[in-house]
Amino acid sequence: MVKKFCYILSFMLVSLTAISQNQKKFSAEITTWYQDKVGAVSISFDDASYTQYEYAYPVLEKYKLKATFSLVGEWTHDKPTYSAEPDIFLIKKMGWQQIKELHQNGHEIAAHGYKHQKYGKRLPKIILTQQMRQIKNLIESKINAPVYTLHYPYSFTSDSIIAAAEESGFLFGRTEGKENVNQYKLNNKYLLVSQAILNDTTPNENEFAQWIKQANGNWLILMYHHLFPQGSKEMNIMKNHNVKNTFSLYPDTFEKQIKTVAASGYWVAPIAVVGKYIVEREHTKIEMRMFCNTIKIKTFTTVDTTIYNQALTVKVKLPWTKISVEGSENDGDYKVKNSELLIDILPGKTIKIKKRK
Ligand SMILES: [Zn+2]
Repeated sequence: MVKKFCYILSFMLVSLTAISQNQKKFSAEITTWYQDKVGAVSISFDDASYTQYEYAYPVLEKYKLKATFSLVGEWTHDKPTYSAEPDIFLIKKMGWQQIKELHQNGHEIAAHGYKHQKYGKRLPKIILTQQMRQIKNLIESKINAPVYTLHYPYSFTSDSIIAAAEESGFLFGRTEGKENVNQYKLNNKYLLVSQAILNDTTPNENEFAQWIKQANGNWLILMYHHLFPQGSKEMNIMKNHNVKNTFSLYPDTFEKQIKTVAASGYWVAPIAVVGKYIVEREHTKIEMRMFCNTIKIKTFTTVDTTIYNQALTVKVKLPWTKISVEGSENDGDYKVKNSELLIDILPGKTIKIKKRK
């Protein structure tokens, strides 16, 4: 069997296309989601409320999940500070120290405007771009890393606003929309839809479970704001003023929701990580070549690999049981189960799979 393949020097595979009948036992494809998961979920936060650091961050660490935290430039100081837009009570915000800690622990830091104001849809693109670069540059200078995601203030967008987001160097823009989830093929990476947690009971447990269900095959982005404990001063103020959409939930409720997310089996990752994967997947083709007991899988990509550096998962089908992998993100010797192997590969790289005795 092996011998037969020795003389077939090479054959090409374009993405999902199957190969000729003789070679059916060998195939390679980029999986829709990382590690061949059935869907993706991103957990995102707005306004950099200190309670996110106090209550949400430890829960995320407990379940080993990484999220996206967005901040407002003029609300963020070295030390935690109380701030808010006019007419809203003051809420303690994270300082740069907390933001940096989140970043160092693998969470994404995103921009939410230098000011907490809707971007003006009538402003010329050049002005909008200046405003967006102001917050992008500020965060980048503090965390010493690129900022890829913009959470539009109040989710407000227009054609000129999304054009400015692209011009400013953002790769992704998060808003809300009619759809509950993003499709596995993105309509527009500057109009990612998200689902807002409106208060402690909206969504309720059933509704939340429904959202999670809808992530099957798709990408769900959750949008959180504040986590105030039951009986806290902040929850009481909102209760006394009959505020319906408090954009706040109890830390216990948050943990329940995160537990559901963690148990879902989906790929859970920050917005820029999932977004990059999708863009790379759509712009990368793979070619498989065989030489006797070696398979070479080469990726051809049209994306800028200095920015798009998220590993793609390639599902390889092969009839060999013992192999070694080189050039991937998880090199080593493997025993192949069910003739199938998942290998992570950076776009633009080539991997070698060798049959072992
Ligand atoms: Zn906000």
